[in-house]
Amino acid sequence: SLFPRPENEPTCNYAEGTDALTKLRTHLADRTVVEIPAVVGGKKIFSDDVEIIHAPHDRSRVLARVHRPSQAQVDDAIRSNLEAAHDWSRMDFADRAAIMHRAAGIVRGRLRHRINAATMLGQSKTLDEAEADSACELIDFLHFNTFNAQQIVTDQPLSVQDAQNRCDWRPLEGFVYAVSPFNFTAIGTNLSCAPALMGNTVLWKPSNKSTWSNYLFFEALEEAGLPPGVINFVPGEASLVTDAVFASRHFAGLHFTGSSEVFRSLWKRAATGIAAYRTFPRIVGETGGKDFVLVHRSADAREVAVALLKGSFGYQGQKCSAASRAYMPASLWPKVKSILCDLMAQVRIGDVADVSTFMGAVIDQNSYRRLGDALGAAKADSQVKVVAGGTFQDEVGYFVQPTVLQVEDPSHRLMKDELFGPVLSVFEYPDSAWTEVLEAVDSVSDYALTGSIFCTDRAALKQAQDALLHAAGNLYLNDKPTGAIVGQQPFGGGRASGTNDKAGSWMNLLRWTSPRVVKETY
Ligand code: GLU
Repeated sequence: SLFPRPENEPTCNYAEGTDALTKLRTHLADRTVVEIPAVVGGKKIFSDDVEIIHAPHDRSRVLARVHRPSQAQVDDAIRSNLEAAHDWSRMDFADRAAIMHRAAGIVRGRLRHRINAATMLGQSKTLDEAEADSACELIDFLHFNTFNAQQIVTDQPLSVQDAQNRCDWRPLEGFVYAVSPFNFTAIGTNLSCAPALMGNTVLWKPSNKSTWSNYLFFEALEEAGLPPGVINFVPGEASLVTDAVFASRHFAGLHFTGSSEVFRSLWKRAATGIAAYRTFPRIVGETGGKDFVLVHRSADAREVAVALLKGSFGYQGQKCSAASRAYMPASLWPKVKSILCDLMAQVRIGDVADVSTFMGAVIDQNSYRRLGDALGAAKADSQVKVVAGGTFQDEVGYFVQPTVLQVEDPSHRLMKDELFGPVLSVFEYPDSAWTEVLEAVDSVSDYALTGSIFCTDRAALKQAQDALLHAAGNLYLNDKPTGAIVGQQPFGGGRASGTNDKAGSWMNLLRWTSPRVVKETY
């Protein structure tokens, strides 16, 4: 086959003294303010409606000026998507795939340090988190999608002696709207490129908080030979872009990652317009999480504590997959707590340009205030104990200390609602109440994205997996619930966490094709 099964992209060695680290530092130190246009039909659009982007961990540092398109320019983007669709949908799969591979090559080669620096500064990611996201996962999405798409498009029905049957793996008719979040640069790549690879044209609205790193990747796509109008880069005001998209008769699909609330509102918009659309739109979304860590008395306390440190506080807890509610057996919690608190006392929070930093700032003032309100309410609540952390500070950037709260009631809202920040809520249960605690894990939160079970007792582990059949789309046994790797753990969840179409797998790609079957008799 043309595209062999890929290997996961290895991480770059950024050790002290390496050329890679020197180059990365040059990009981190560069104070040039980047101008980011919308790109429609291959043309850059600079507008008067400019949004200034600051570094979340250094509010005084201006990084970029994003030129937001007008309503008329979004309409132009839709027109340009529809024009580009004719040739793109008829192009050989191998040619479309070659463009994606070439873009991956550009990121792997000359763009890597620059896109990592943009992700670190713009989204306040540490170097490790940035490298895993804007280099490795981004490249993996392109390689694995290509391989998986190849498996799909080469699948053909049976032909017989006097008749030939053929499947044309057509794209959807119309354009796909891709709405990507700030927290992973790679998700923007997947949301735009997976439908495009299957022959669709895409209107891509990146989050305003990740526009810089997303734009660098978009430039790589253009350089790789993506024809104008196949993906239009539209970093606009959300409601303005959304209004234009849902007003078009040719809206054919939504590829979304973000909050459950926004996803529901977009779904409702699509439902409202349903009679006007030419085809039934495909709606694919990966949304929120309130991801559990369930600990059995047979678990290893240190393993649990390390998993919580990384799973709850990595990237400031701003992952849909972050560990945000833990269930601890009374016999183990004191030991886990003491190790976790020691580890937390050692972590460095601050400027992500310092490569020893473990946590940067939360993404913006809204997020900082929301977390501040939640922590204020927790402190005032007699049912909640602050085990560690709980302070915040915004003189330089939006810093929230990693925080562990303990609740008395397993149905407390801190065990239900997503906070999207470095806050872990813990419920301690009597060791004998394992069966009851399984019920609480399954029923208290509406979400079902990821979850972890720490347990070495095989019977208890089996019982938990059975009881929690629908409680997570990605379940980890004796591991943290974050950091799914493309090709290894296809990612997504059910219930309020999304449509579970498994990012990075063939399941997602199937949503972007509407096949035609052709029979020819001889
Ligand atoms: N795929 C990421 C992980 O496994 C999470 C993606 C998200 O936060 O949307 O940690």
